[in-house]
Amino acid sequence: MEKATRQFTKVHNIRLVLKTVYDKSPISRADLARATGLTRATISEIVGGLIERGFLEEVGVGSSAGGKPPILVSLRANARQVICADLKPDEFEVALVDLRGSIRYRRRWPTAGMRGEALVGLLVEAIDQMVSEAEAPLIGIGVIVPGLTDPLNGIVRRSVQLDWSDLALKQPLEARFELPIYLVNDSHAAALAEYTFGEHSQNPNLIVVRAGDGISCGIILSGRLHHGDGFGAGEIGHLTVVEDGRLCSCGKTGCLETVATSRAVLRAVREVAAAPASQGRPGMPRWGDVLRRYASGEETATAAVNQAGRYLGFSIASLVSILNVDHIVFTGSFTAFGEPFLNAVREEVRRRSLAKLAGDTRISNTVLGPENLILGASAVVLSTELGLP
Ligand SMILES: [Zn+2]
Repeated sequence: MEKATRQFTKVHNIRLVLKTVYDKSPISRADLARATGLTRATISEIVGGLIERGFLEEVGVGSSAGGKPPILVSLRANARQVICADLKPDEFEVALVDLRGSIRYRRRWPTAGMRGEALVGLLVEAIDQMVSEAEAPLIGIGVIVPGLTDPLNGIVRRSVQLDWSDLALKQPLEARFELPIYLVNDSHAAALAEYTFGEHSQNPNLIVVRAGDGISCGIILSGRLHHGDGFGAGEIGHLTVVEDGRLCSCGKTGCLETVATSRAVLRAVREVAAAPASQGRPGMPRWGDVLRRYASGEETATAAVNQAGRYLGFSIASLVSILNVDHIVFTGSFTAFGEPFLNAVREEVRRRSLAKLAGDTRISNTVLGPENLILGASAVVLSTELGLP
């Protein structure tokens, strides 16, 4: 065998064993040989190497069908860690994640109104701190970016929220920390989290819609994230849904983001509160008020939130018609409105697409918590570096 081929086969076999232990821990060497199709000798050598490097440990003995009971090996979840940084406009949330996707430590850095290049300095400081907090060797860093991101060249093409344009981020971070750096668009991270750790890991096709301060979606097709030719797949927030509508932050008018974000809902509720008929009532409503009023069925909040749901449904109907994906999952702050909000979305999808397609479409809220983006970014690093999970 040629040297390169031998090396490739060796790496492939190590990943196969690691993945099998990951899925079936605890497991004996004999069962590993059966599950992977590798010889007992190869398994012994690989398991020995993985124990030496700290990935696996012997955890006791299994039951025997006669003869000496087999020793079981298990994955050490905290054998390695990944740093994940979620770059939200108001704060950077940075976490250490183990091999099972559990967050071991996290910290928040307020951005305090910083924008542009200054934020890179804050990110470096945050990662520096995490490197010193790590309890295990690090295998890589995942950076979640709200905006159009080119992960291959490691460049943030455009983030309106952070005010970054054509910013080379991967290369300077790689040089600074000597670790592999992965840039992941936020909605793509949400889709990967749902596909890897959520309820939908069995669905090869999946659309995850993020609805909150902004709107975008991540699309999984045949078990793989669909990036698009320019890495902008799923940027539905700037589809025009209102002719001659309001001015959007992108410079166009009538975008989905002008009518269906949390800001748009708040504006609609506040406009009613500011109307002469409502004068004299104390204070302007805040987001928490909208949630409470919607839950109690109050008219203004219900109208504003359901209107946003209908605009989202209008856009999702296009996705359903073009891609025929059966599972749509919502993440972001709109999930707090629960089933009544989803019903407004569903109704509009039904109204605007073929009955058969809409009938087969399941629209639900995520079961993952707010740390879903960090999980998605960790999945990118783990799968590329180690073939997990
Ligand atoms: Zn726009």
